[in-house]
Amino acid sequence: MKAAVLHEFKRPLAIESTSDPKPGTGEVLVQVEVCGVCHSDLHLADGDWPQFNPILKMPLILGHEVAGHVVETNGSSCGLQPGDRVGLPWIYWTCGECEPCREGNENLCTKQKITGVTVDGGFAELLRAPASHLVRIPEALSLLEAAPLFCAGVTVFRALKQAAISPGQRLAVFGIGGLGHIAVQVGRELGAEVIAVDISEEKLELANSLGAKAQVNAASTDAGQYLRKQGGVHVALVTSAAKRAYDAAFQCVRPSGTLLAVGLPGENICFSPLMMAAREVRIRASAVGTREDIKEVLSLAARGKVRCLVSIRKLEQANTALQELRSGAVSGRLVLSLN
Ligand code: NAD
Ligand code: ZN
Ligand code: ZN
Repeated sequence: MKAAVLHEFKRPLAIESTSDPKPGTGEVLVQVEVCGVCHSDLHLADGDWPQFNPILKMPLILGHEVAGHVVETNGSSCGLQPGDRVGLPWIYWTCGECEPCREGNENLCTKQKITGVTVDGGFAELLRAPASHLVRIPEALSLLEAAPLFCAGVTVFRALKQAAISPGQRLAVFGIGGLGHIAVQVGRELGAEVIAVDISEEKLELANSLGAKAQVNAASTDAGQYLRKQGGVHVALVTSAAKRAYDAAFQCVRPSGTLLAVGLPGENICFSPLMMAAREVRIRASAVGTREDIKEVLSLAARGKVRCLVSIRKLEQANTALQELRSGAVSGRLVLSLN
């Protein structure tokens, strides 16, 4: 099969032929139709996260927003048949037995395997995956629009659900990229008054078209101070990997408000405990989501409440796709098409 393979950090992915994966017991073979290009793929390719080095498979096929068809089942297939439309998320496999798994937070499984990190992902024509962890894609959704929901969509959906945002509350979304453009829509569906913050006018216009009530250009305005002067926000969701976005988001949280940490810069972020205490700021991080969260966000999209803006690139264009993302030029999500 053809795949885009990472051999070394900061080096272009090699577009090469590798042997077809063979599904083991309880696994199925998936023909990948499309795979989203997430900023996490870029962090991985650039070696931004040394914390992952001990568990990273290398060479590695990146990609964890996979949508495709089942082509072969092997033994227990959880009712999946060849031809079924399925997606595979960041969380490749979970044990079902550890404390977080038993508590319903399988996204925090202590033994988890991660798609495109500890096992090969979806920048390839085929992949093998545990039948138990594939999620069916509703008929009403195209594979193209479904793929980004398997990371970008589920991540912001879970984060906003956990923030328990109520109708009428102010939600600032920092970063209107792959995650952020979906967050604007989920926030709108939850009844929040959404304020979009980005450094690109084009992305702010996109947020406007998706229902954001206000836009702040952080390239020309001190977004933290500006929003604070307006009373601050109940929830500041950071989906940008920029440290500056975190600094501004922290500043604009109103008393007893929540900073939702989702964007994952390589560097550490630091806040003054005095300023945290003075406003009793809650800081909450969120990691992708569970299979249940994925089903919920797929259902929201199938009902037309959330739409992913997608642009298609070929597998051979994987490196230019990563470069487009690196330079901040992507509106919505790029997906690699495998056929
Ligand atoms: P993206 O590149 O599509 O979007 C990032 C956006 O941030 C861009 O629109 C960019 O213009 C904007 N931005 C840059 N600087 C900014 C600033 N100072 N203020 C406001 N906006 C700014 O990336 P993405 O795919 O949406 O991923 C975003 C981040 O989320 C990455 O760090 C990724 O690793 C992380 N992520 C986390 C999880 C999780 O589970 N916590 C899941 C998926 C992705
Ligand atoms: Zn991702
Ligand atoms: Zn577990």
